[in-house]
Amino acid sequence: MIKYFREIWETIRTVMAGMRITIHYGLSPSEEITMQYPEQKEDPARGWKISDRYRGLIVNDIEKCNVCTVCARTCPIDCIEIEAEGKGKQKVASKFNFDASRCMFCGLCVEACPTGSLKVTKEHELSTYTRGAMIYHYGVKP
Ligand code: SF4
Ligand code: SF4
Repeated sequence: MIKYFREIWETIRTVMAGMRITIHYGLSPSEEITMQYPEQKEDPARGWKISDRYRGLIVNDIEKCNVCTVCARTCPIDCIEIEAEGKGKQKVASKFNFDASRCMFCGLCVEACPTGSLKVTKEHELSTYTRGAMIYHYGVKP
């Protein structure tokens, strides 16, 4: 019998504890601890921002790229595919594909890039309907 009433009391106590927090934040919007994602993505005033160290989408400023292929050779899982055309200073990356569906965002390719053309961004909304759409084409026509 005592156990029966103790369980009723425990139920009431835990529901009240949860409701106390819900009511507190419901009446004090300034203390919100949630963000209306995806409409709201950052709120630096509250310290809600993507970390400067965040590693998102890898982009290539192809004008700076010297097609050395160091990034492709550094990548442990072969996410980068490069084809070059031309010779000497005329050499360009006619194909520079970055496969975001395979990338583990380790950043090794970016660290290895000698020209600084390859960069990490904070872009993290990379979902697509097809795998093919996750391949980013940075190559240029020679
Ligand atoms: S971030 Fe890592 S896994 Fe992704 S392409 Fe660069 S080296 Fe490869
Ligand atoms: S390491 Fe940098 S410069 Fe070399 S091919 Fe890759 S992106 Fe281009």
